[in-house]
Amino acid sequence: MAETKDIEFLRGLTLALLAWYEKHRRAFPWREEPTPYRIWVSEIMLQQTRIEAALPYFDRFMAALPTVSTLADVEEERLMKLWEGLGYYSRARNLQKAAKTIVADYGGELPASYEKLLSLPGIGEYTAGAIASMAYGLPVPAVDGNVLRVCARLLDDEGDITRAPVKKRLREAVYAMLPPDRPGDFNQAVMELGETVCLPNTVPLCSECPIRGGCRSRQAGHPERLPVRAEKKARRVEKRTVLIVIAGGRVLLHRREDKGLLAGMWELPSVPSWIPPEETDAVAATWGARPTETVAVGDGKHVFSHIEWQMQGVLLYTRPFSPPEGFLWADARRLREETALPSAFRCYSSRLAQWMQGETWSGQ
Ligand code: SF4
Repeated sequence: MAETKDIEFLRGLTLALLAWYEKHRRAFPWREEPTPYRIWVSEIMLQQTRIEAALPYFDRFMAALPTVSTLADVEEERLMKLWEGLGYYSRARNLQKAAKTIVADYGGELPASYEKLLSLPGIGEYTAGAIASMAYGLPVPAVDGNVLRVCARLLDDEGDITRAPVKKRLREAVYAMLPPDRPGDFNQAVMELGETVCLPNTVPLCSECPIRGGCRSRQAGHPERLPVRAEKKARRVEKRTVLIVIAGGRVLLHRREDKGLLAGMWELPSVPSWIPPEETDAVAATWGARPTETVAVGDGKHVFSHIEWQMQGVLLYTRPFSPPEGFLWADARRLREETALPSAFRCYSSRLAQWMQGETWSGQ
């Protein structure tokens, strides 16, 4: 538990923070119309995506799937299309799994209970706290990376914030500050401060901070040194050859396995090594292709959280053939309107889209 003197000290800062938030809060669609469903979807989108990038996705998602039950019932391919470009597609799948549970067990309304929210797929402590406090006014902290940073600086806590005991004590500090009548505003105020003033990886804008008078790392003269975070493990590099197999204005897509990276997504077929262009015909032949021309189309890279794909692309023109199970032909309309391609392939899919509109393949 945080010590009593810390608790008293922290509570003294709460009002200043709330007053600052009232003046400086940014207007977002989920804040202007804060239903439990909208808050939930926004929080899931914002887990790995910047706010500015998520805004058009959020509006499109809400227009297409305005309720929990529409989300529960939507076709998976349509859901993936709505998520296309946001990445981390398991977030969308978990949203739908949770929506089905909410319809089956809670009559289509998100439960007003932190524990019940926490039991839903894709909802961890932070998201459960955000929904419980913002949508239902329950006095629960919502501690994300922004909040950990603000708190570590405020208390001059030099513990490694990737460690569970450090996270726990910082969470307790936030809990101690929570005003029981405005937990949602308070949680958003700390996050907003972290996003706009107490900035990461740089010197924070302390002169604009409403709680600077009580900030211990500022008094110590080293806020930019905090939070302490253990070095991340280096990413594993994976070399892949991407085969862009085309025939009659259509491109061959492959469905990935149901588990693991990009589970169940349609992709440009690829093999996990770099192979010379002249050997790609033999690989494509195992799917039934009869290539007539093979062209190297350059390298690409995509960085996931733990893996980096270093890709080389090969374009194969082939005579039409019936693809085996797990493959399909997609034309321009299908790619535009129905089937999502993961952004890992953006280095090729943007040129593919241009090619499908009749332009020559560029960027070789
Ligand atoms: S005074 Fe500076 S370091 Fe402290 S909480 Fe405010 S912005 Fe962050």
